[in-house]
Amino acid sequence: LGKEVPSGALPVSTGAIVQNVATAYSVYEAVCYDKPLIDRIVTVTGPSVTHPGNYLVPIGMNIMSLLQLAGGVPADTGKIILGGPMMGRAVVTIDTPTVKGVSGVLMLPESQSRRGKVEPCIRCASCVSACPMGLEPYLMSTLSRLGRWEELEHNKVMNCIECGCCSYICPASRPLLDYIRLGKSKVGNLIRLRNKK
Ligand code: SF4
Ligand code: SF4
Repeated sequence: LGKEVPSGALPVSTGAIVQNVATAYSVYEAVCYDKPLIDRIVTVTGPSVTHPGNYLVPIGMNIMSLLQLAGGVPADTGKIILGGPMMGRAVVTIDTPTVKGVSGVLMLPESQSRRGKVEPCIRCASCVSACPMGLEPYLMSTLSRLGRWEELEHNKVMNCIECGCCSYICPASRPLLDYIRLGKSKVGNLIRLRNKK
């Protein structure tokens, strides 16, 4: 549309609404067929999964039961991630229900699950080059680690879309996104408190 969303604003402020296909389809079903969101398609995948695929499951279905449909949890599984490989979150248990935000389940083998040893930042700027939002991930993660929330807000942490590119590219295996997510949560709370006054 040739529109740019201002920092800290939502796309709707430019007169555009951005929806994913699943949401758009759910709206269609609700409006045209009075059908509430009672099921959704969940992708189950991973290098060792017996029957990877897209499964239509009722909201609330236990993730463990869903994985059984895909052939069960492979023996070499080291990590189970809800969501995609870049933005998803590892879970400690699969004895949990499918909720509307679960778009996929990724089972990674042990060999691909380990994080590298965290080394000092070498100032290579790879994370800066990789950031699609023009942010400075090395700086934001440091400010978050040090609890310097106001400086973090000043450095536009709320513009981070949590794509994970910075963590992926970092040759020093620094947990950039982990610290940035923590910082976003703290700064978000500060902004909400300020707006209440
Ligand atoms: S996770 Fe955030 S800071 Fe890191 S590359 Fe993506 S948008 Fe930039
Ligand atoms: S990619 Fe990693 S090592 Fe390079 S500047 Fe960013 S945080 Fe530092």
